[in-house]
Amino acid sequence: MTIITHPAKTERAIATELQLRMQGEFSNGAQDNWLAVIARCKTRRDVQSALRTARAHGLSVIIRGGGQDATGCTVTPGQLVVDLSAMRKIDVNPDTRVAIVSGGATVRDVVIAAAAHGLVPVTGICGSDRMAGVKLDDGYGPLLGRYGRVADNVLEAEIVLKGGQHVIVNAGRNRDLFRALCAGGMDPGVVTSLHVRLRALPSLLAGMIFYPWSDAELVLHGYSALAALAPDYLTVSAGIVSAVDGNPLLFIAPTWCGELEEGEHVLAALQAFGNPVGAIVGPMSYPGLLAMHDRYIATGPRCSKHRRRLPALTDRAISAIIVAANARTSPLSAIVLHHFRGAPTRAHAEAGAFGMQEGHFLIEAIAVWDPAADDKEAGHQLWAQNLPEALAPAVPTRNYTNLLGLGDRGVR
Ligand SMILES: Cc1cc2nc3c(=O)[nH]c(=O)nc-3n(C[C@H](O)[C@H](O)[C@H](O)COP(=O)(O)OP(=O)(O)OC[C@H]3O[C@@H](n4cnc5c(N)ncnc54)[C@H](O)[C@@H]3O)c2cc1C
Repeated sequence: MTIITHPAKTERAIATELQLRMQGEFSNGAQDNWLAVIARCKTRRDVQSALRTARAHGLSVIIRGGGQDATGCTVTPGQLVVDLSAMRKIDVNPDTRVAIVSGGATVRDVVIAAAAHGLVPVTGICGSDRMAGVKLDDGYGPLLGRYGRVADNVLEAEIVLKGGQHVIVNAGRNRDLFRALCAGGMDPGVVTSLHVRLRALPSLLAGMIFYPWSDAELVLHGYSALAALAPDYLTVSAGIVSAVDGNPLLFIAPTWCGELEEGEHVLAALQAFGNPVGAIVGPMSYPGLLAMHDRYIATGPRCSKHRRRLPALTDRAISAIIVAANARTSPLSAIVLHHFRGAPTRAHAEAGAFGMQEGHFLIEAIAVWDPAADDKEAGHQLWAQNLPEALAPAVPTRNYTNLLGLGDRGVR
């Protein structure tokens, strides 16, 4: 284990040599915090000694997987960070279709290891997220409709509790802790490994369809109607980004994981919602699907996120989304429509913090700007705040921990 300290920023310095500023290592450049101590762990024993060291020195602990979280919670000042980024071992058992994933393994690590055996894990779309970080935060992705959340596919976890004790949790052992862990949003300790179920997917159709802004209303109404009827095999998200000319550009990102011929019809119907200006849709491997999304992911600029959960994508909601897209204050900003439905809405009576009992949309306004190129931070933040209010004024949205922004710090 490597220990790095920042003595100038902690009252209880453990060592004195190194200074470290974390800004720039994280996906949200709006974070600007100084850590007290970083324990870069390689084994479970490292994690145990880091937690005991923190306790002995009166430091509180934060756990860092990939640091992708946008709230800044993994860079809270003056704390000891248990950094798991070096714990990336993965063992795949193709017979049981289970992968044992170390606490710092990335989604991409797991996807590639499983693909070597013709198998697929249930993940989010971002390859550089850590599997444990995504799981703990109610993670979901392109296979949600058929296979549920990431947590629904966790069979067992190894946790080092805050006091340093090591426990194994599963459906038969430490059951309450396991249930709490899989319900999302809970922080029982450091997850040092997960056993995750893998799926055999003979075929996958996926892609992105881009529509001109003049088709936005038509396409969003089509998306809304589809949402009510779609089979579990289909998971579709949508979003608004900027075209090269600066105008808003609408996209729909479908994933079909059922029978190929039926999927081809469904995806053709999606393309007929409007007159696409471009589409990359077809048979795709799961690693290929992640790589396609990775192309659109940037890290470093500042961002501010706000969201609203809606039971349906109504005419009023569509109008509010169109108005907000036209009012974007930065070409880097986006609106994303997540649709939660299918298997997880039926499977879990004790569903997670996110509350998957009912299908719903989550509309996310993501203001993104480059502080070097513009200083209108307040305007960008206000834009992101305005959309949820326009969608449904003063409705408290139950927080989905994976989609929080900087202003949500401390709500975990
Ligand atoms: C570009 C982008 C795309 C995304 N796409 C998706 C998506 O498709 N689906 C989705 O669900 N989410 C998505 N997210 C959100 C992402 O999954 C969460 O931010 C997730 O927490 C990132 O994992 P991480 O390891 O980087 O977490 P970190 O930022 O390191 O940590 C996040 C939280 O999890 C805790 N944590 C992390 N690892 C452990 C561990 N091993 N044990 C205990 N606690 C731990 C941390 O303490 C912290 O509270 C996306 C985020 C980004 C930036």
